[in-house]
Amino acid sequence: MDTDIYHVLLSDCLLAVVLFGLFWYVARLARSVRGIKAWGGAHLVYTLGATLLDAFSPAFAEAGEPAAAVFTLNFGSLLACIGMVGLAWSIILFTTQRALSRIEMALMPAGIALSLLAWILRGDTDAQGIALSTVEIVSLAIMAWRLFRMRDRPGRLPARLMAGGCLALILLYGSVVPGWLDGLFGIDPIWVSVDLSVWFMLNFCMLMLTSFRAADSWRHGAMHDLLTGLLNRRGLELELESRTARLSGDTEIAAIALDLDRFKSINDRYGHEAGDGVLERFAAIARSCLPERALFARLGGEEFVVVLTGAEAASAPALADRIREHVAEAEFAAGQAPTRVSCSLGVCRGGTLRDPFADLLRTADQALYDAKRGGRDRVALRAYAG
Ligand code: GH3
Ligand code: MG
Ligand code: MG
Repeated sequence: MDTDIYHVLLSDCLLAVVLFGLFWYVARLARSVRGIKAWGGAHLVYTLGATLLDAFSPAFAEAGEPAAAVFTLNFGSLLACIGMVGLAWSIILFTTQRALSRIEMALMPAGIALSLLAWILRGDTDAQGIALSTVEIVSLAIMAWRLFRMRDRPGRLPARLMAGGCLALILLYGSVVPGWLDGLFGIDPIWVSVDLSVWFMLNFCMLMLTSFRAADSWRHGAMHDLLTGLLNRRGLELELESRTARLSGDTEIAAIALDLDRFKSINDRYGHEAGDGVLERFAAIARSCLPERALFARLGGEEFVVVLTGAEAASAPALADRIREHVAEAEFAAGQAPTRVSCSLGVCRGGTLRDPFADLLRTADQALYDAKRGGRDRVALRAYAG
C-alpha cells in the first residue's frame, strides 16, 4: 500500500490548526501557566514548515517549476526550524514555569542562522536536511531531558511518554542524516507514518499535561487570596477538613485572629493601593514567623487567621507575640517616608479537632476585641469554652 504523502501532510496541518485552538482554549483557562499557547503555536509553525518542505516542494519539482520547488524547500525548512525551537522553548517554559535564560533564548537565532546559511550557501535538499535535522535533534534532546525531570504526579506518566517519544524522533531524524550526507535522501512513506504517529502521541500527552496544570491553577485560584497568596476562607475550610480526616479528633487546635490596627487611616492617608501593599507585606512578615504546617488565611479585608494543630497548638501565644513584635518593628513603604504599622491578635486555646471551627474562631475573635479594647498592638488569650 502506498501513502499519499501530500494529502497526509495536508490533513496533518488541519489537525495542527485544531490542536492550536485546543491549546489556546486551555491557556485561556489557566492564564498564569507558561508554555501552553507556545506549544500550540510552535507545533502549527513546525507542521506548516514540514508540509512545505516534504509535500509542496517535491510537488512543484514534479510539476516542472524548479524555482518554486527551491523556495518552498528553503522557506519550509526555515519555518520548521523556528517551530522546532519554539517547541523546545515551550517545554522549558512549561516544565520550569520561569522565564527563559539567555542561552535558551539564543537557541532561536542559532536555529534560524543555520537554516539561512544552508539556504544561502547551497539551497538544496541535502543542506536544508542537515540544518533541520541538527535543530530537531538538539531541540528534541532538550525536550526529552526537561520532560524526564517532571516527577510530580499526575503529570509524570504523560511526561515520561513524551520524553520517550522525543527519543524515538531523535532516532528517526538521526537515521536520515546519512542519506542527506551522500545525497540519496528521499521521503519514505513508512518513515512519515511513524513520524506522524509519534507527533500525535506527543500532542495527546501535552494536552493531558496542560489540562492537569489548568485544573491545578483553577484549584489554587479557588483556594487562595489573590493579593496575599494566603489561603482564603474556602481554602482554609478545605485544608481543615483534610486535616480532620487524617488526624484523631482529640488533636489539639488553636486559632489566632489577627487584625491590623487603624488600618483605615492608612488607606485614607496614602490611598487604597498603598494599603494593599501594607496588607501584602504584613502577610509576608506574619508567614515568616510561622511554622511550615501552620494554616494561615485571609478571611477578608484586613482580617486574618492562623490555625495550629497538634504539638504546635501549645505555642500559639508565643507565635502570636512574635508576629506582633515583627510587625511592629518592620518599616512599611506606604507613603514617601517609611510607615509603622501595628496589629492586634486574639488567641483561642484548648480546643480539639472535634470542636466546631466556627466556635473556635468566634472565641479567637472575642480575644481579638479584648486586645483592641486593651489599647491595640497586643495579644489577648481566651480558653475555648465549648
Ligand atoms: P481597628 O484598629 O479597630 O481595627 O481599626 P481599622 O481602621 O483597622 O478597622 P476598620 O474595620 O474600621 O477598617 C478596616 C479598613 O480596611 C476599612 C477598609 O477600607 C479597609 N480594607 C478592607 N479590605 C481592604 C483591601 O483589600 N485593601 C485595602 N487597601 N483596604 C482594605
Ligand atoms: Mg483593623
Ligand atoms: Mg477589621
